[in-house]
Amino acid sequence: MPVTHKKRVTQLIFTLLLLGLLLARGQGIGASPPRQQQIIHTVQAGETLFLIAERYGTTVEAIVAANGLSDPDLIFVGQQLVIPQGETVEVLLPVVVQPGDTLPILASRYNTTVQAIAERNHLLHPALIRTGQTLTIPTFSPVPDRSLVHVVQAGDTSLRIAWRYGVDFWTLAQVNELQNPAILPAGQCLRIPLTGATEELPPPFHTLQITPQPVAQGQTLVIKVHTLRPAEVSGTFAGQTLSFARQQENVYWALVGVNALANPGPYELSLSASDAVGSVATATERVTVVAGEFEVQYIYLSPEVSVLLDPELVRDERLLVAEVMGRFTPSPAWTGLFRVPLQGEINITSPFGGRRSYNDGPIASYHGGIDFGADEGTPVYAAATGRVALAEPLQVRGKAVILDHGMGVYTGYWHLSGIAVQAGQTVLAGDLIGYVGSTGLSTAPHLHWELRVNNVQVDPWQWTQQPIP
Ligand SMILES: [Zn+2]
Repeated sequence: MPVTHKKRVTQLIFTLLLLGLLLARGQGIGASPPRQQQIIHTVQAGETLFLIAERYGTTVEAIVAANGLSDPDLIFVGQQLVIPQGETVEVLLPVVVQPGDTLPILASRYNTTVQAIAERNHLLHPALIRTGQTLTIPTFSPVPDRSLVHVVQAGDTSLRIAWRYGVDFWTLAQVNELQNPAILPAGQCLRIPLTGATEELPPPFHTLQITPQPVAQGQTLVIKVHTLRPAEVSGTFAGQTLSFARQQENVYWALVGVNALANPGPYELSLSASDAVGSVATATERVTVVAGEFEVQYIYLSPEVSVLLDPELVRDERLLVAEVMGRFTPSPAWTGLFRVPLQGEINITSPFGGRRSYNDGPIASYHGGIDFGADEGTPVYAAATGRVALAEPLQVRGKAVILDHGMGVYTGYWHLSGIAVQAGQTVLAGDLIGYVGSTGLSTAPHLHWELRVNNVQVDPWQWTQQPIP
């Protein structure tokens, strides 16, 4: 991300703020190439010039100068302000070329020029772009107004909060007008500026809900598209095709399993909707993936069990499980929350996502599910309604049950002492499917419960807390 320039600008602004030199002339601040366009912004309740400047990626000084304001604190709701575009900060967006895209279409969608895209991507011939290619689009679009609020916890620091949300420290300090970012009282609410496109959605799109935002490594992202009329909705996330289902009249949804090892940063969500009259609209959003909080686990296995770490055996079984859990059944069989597969009090011995080292080996994997410690023979229940896709003993996972819940969502139950269902059978949420054991690669009786979305292992706990979709 080309934040160097922006960082310098925001650092300078911050310094000026501290010195109380808010009205000092900002000569030399705006080094971006001037743009001819102007935006008119109508002041909303609660806005300050700082928030407005942040929203459009410009500076307070530039807005003050462009509007001849005598006092930057005296703006009023409904006032129309000229936002000078000469002070916008260049943003580089990674964009995957979609069928039908041309450079003029991309240039107009991202408020830039064909020449700027061609130069940035060293395109010898601008007509030669291909579907699936990733282009870096330089754009001067305003910084969108989308934000979260973080309530400061005891021990939080601004650096840590900035890192956690993947935002720039100085931007965080500036947006919240922090006089001393080193001191954050617990309970203070901080506005977290998030980047992502916010252009008006073209019809037949109505609204778009993306939950959660930002999304952490190992979480399930729910994309819900509301349309004005019945439409055919399709899309990609980071270049991967999404499968949409219709939830109700004019509401369509799709899921993305965010890999626990995905690189934190912005990812592109591209959507397209076509209605019965044949008009096709496209929309692009940026979704920020932030780091999850995972611990490192050191696991020691006895020699007999270590034999099961034979790479070939591990690989063959992994491929088998991936093949079963990779089949896509279009309609969802579940409704509401998933239930924890054990009854009564539960004991989580290993949460999802912990980075793993076996017998002091390198940290090359992570825990793909949740482990529950429980006595041998404890009943295990289906987390949700679905069809039994596999019910058989495996060498690493032990006696295993896999349930297909539709829409690419599967749950797996490993190391069972006994299996109570048969492949092909339909089970309802809460039906008995087996018993806790310690079969396969296991050191003590426990249930390993995992959940996959399109074959990506995600944290099942989210599904027990948040109704999806
Ligand atoms: Zn486990």
